[in-house]
Amino acid sequence: MILTAVYARVNEDMDMDLKKLAATLIPDKALLAPEEYESVYPQRELEKGAEVTRLAPSPTGFIHLGNLYSALADERAAHTSGGIFYLRIEDTDEKRKVEGAVESVIRSLKYFGIKFDEGAEIDSPLNKYGPYYQRQRAEIYRSFVKKLIEEGLAYPCFCTAEELDAVREKQTENKETTGYYGAYAKCRSLSEEEIYNNLKAGKPFVIRLKSQGSIENKFTFRDAIKGDITVTENDQDVVILKSDGIPTYHFAHAIDDHFMRTTLVIRGEEWLSSLPIHLELHKVLGFKPPRYAHTCSLMKMDGETKRKLSKRKDPELSLDYYRKAGYFPLAVVKYLMTVLNSNFEEWSLKNPDGDYKAFKFKIDKMGKSGALFDLEKLCDVSKTEISKLSAEECFDFLKGWVDEFGTDGDKKHFEDKEYIIKILNLIMGVGGKKRRKDIERAEQGVRLMDYFFDDTFAHTDKFRKYGAEKDYSTVKSMLEGFARVYDPADDNSVWFSKVKSVAGVAGFAAEMSEWKANPENYKGSVSDAAEILRIAITGKANSPDLCTIMGIIGKERCLERLDADLCIMKNLAQAK
Ligand code: GLU
Repeated sequence: MILTAVYARVNEDMDMDLKKLAATLIPDKALLAPEEYESVYPQRELEKGAEVTRLAPSPTGFIHLGNLYSALADERAAHTSGGIFYLRIEDTDEKRKVEGAVESVIRSLKYFGIKFDEGAEIDSPLNKYGPYYQRQRAEIYRSFVKKLIEEGLAYPCFCTAEELDAVREKQTENKETTGYYGAYAKCRSLSEEEIYNNLKAGKPFVIRLKSQGSIENKFTFRDAIKGDITVTENDQDVVILKSDGIPTYHFAHAIDDHFMRTTLVIRGEEWLSSLPIHLELHKVLGFKPPRYAHTCSLMKMDGETKRKLSKRKDPELSLDYYRKAGYFPLAVVKYLMTVLNSNFEEWSLKNPDGDYKAFKFKIDKMGKSGALFDLEKLCDVSKTEISKLSAEECFDFLKGWVDEFGTDGDKKHFEDKEYIIKILNLIMGVGGKKRRKDIERAEQGVRLMDYFFDDTFAHTDKFRKYGAEKDYSTVKSMLEGFARVYDPADDNSVWFSKVKSVAGVAGFAAEMSEWKANPENYKGSVSDAAEILRIAITGKANSPDLCTIMGIIGKERCLERLDADLCIMKNLAQAK
């Protein structure tokens, strides 16, 4: 229900015909009366205590970690209480709009598992509180601006940008608060005649709130995160409707949060200073304001000092950074949960395999000041989460990254799921006792597979402790010898006994005990001999179990690699 404005009519020119003025300034014929919107957007039928939250970004195209942090708090607050989380696009500033920005918000948040129940571009039967783009809600705002003018609580201002600049300069010079208020609010006391003369002269105008507040008055407000905060009343006659007929953020958000039936506004603490304006707007509009929760900024340690994450200095502020590098999305979310609620970490240790959604998120447990974001900790969480994946899940995760950011070669490789799964079982240790726990990003995992494909196989380690360039005949004996006896049907122990016997012939100690007892009698140990094979097959001096690798790569390609390596070594030896 719309309450009658609590303020008395405060128009200085008591004789002014405010109805006529409102109809002149807002001439739209088909506007609904303000009170009609109460039934257009009825109260939501939700359980008691259910929170209705929203993410309300401007479509600037830059979606950052702070947005995800806030969205996660919104989503958790709504869904742990049986409520609704919706997306509203605050596009009142046409200049900042970037094509595709809305899709990018939805896609980015979806990647991190955060979904909206209703809102802009969301296909949902719940979409009953739209339109969810502010520019499409102009009529609603205009209806309320009209009402405020009729009540003497808003007025037209014809000041030019130059005049406003001059006022600001004077205020700065006098060390006064800048803005449009008190004696500086020139158009507040225009007579009816002056207003109509200005209109007749075609002067552009904005509509300002006729503030009823005073900086002499303070009041205490309860923030859902920060607790009781004492603030000074607003006395600024802020612009509510711009000259293009579109409202300002201040005005639009008050109307929207009321009619979209938002119960809890979670937003960055940079909005705290505007809170007195917002509460005054709710008051003059006759609305009961939602609860506000101002989140603290994300900080990072920069040497010894703690500072805000910055768009310019910190690539990790952008959400695209995590997608491109291929951090495990759930890890980013779980890490942010520990930043949101410090007791999440303890819960997570007790419930290592639990769904984070089972944790009882509490808005009032959020940090009151500077939340420290530590990329290294996030990496640790990512490693842990990746190490928990089954081969199938790991395939899906890596493929998702490859599809978007991989090379054409990577994409081709991932067409052979069976082959990739075999590799994953081996290199990630899936299902085995030695589960690999050092992969923090998809890109890293994909690059670890390079030597399983001919087009990405490369000799990254050329160094050979024994033989090698210095002793081509040893390398030849090892590679040719093994090529002759290799049989992919051999199990691990037969495979190894063959390595030992070829190594013995090539002058290596076949048994470690022999090598340890008389190293001077041999070219090296059996593991040095195996390294020659390993480098030929994988290009690396270290790899997981070579017998399994050879089994995956297949006999034909293994023999080709042994042969190719032999040629390389021959050329190197001849070049010496
Ligand atoms: N459109 C505002 C922003 O992008 C939203 C602030 C709010 O959540 O109320 O910062």
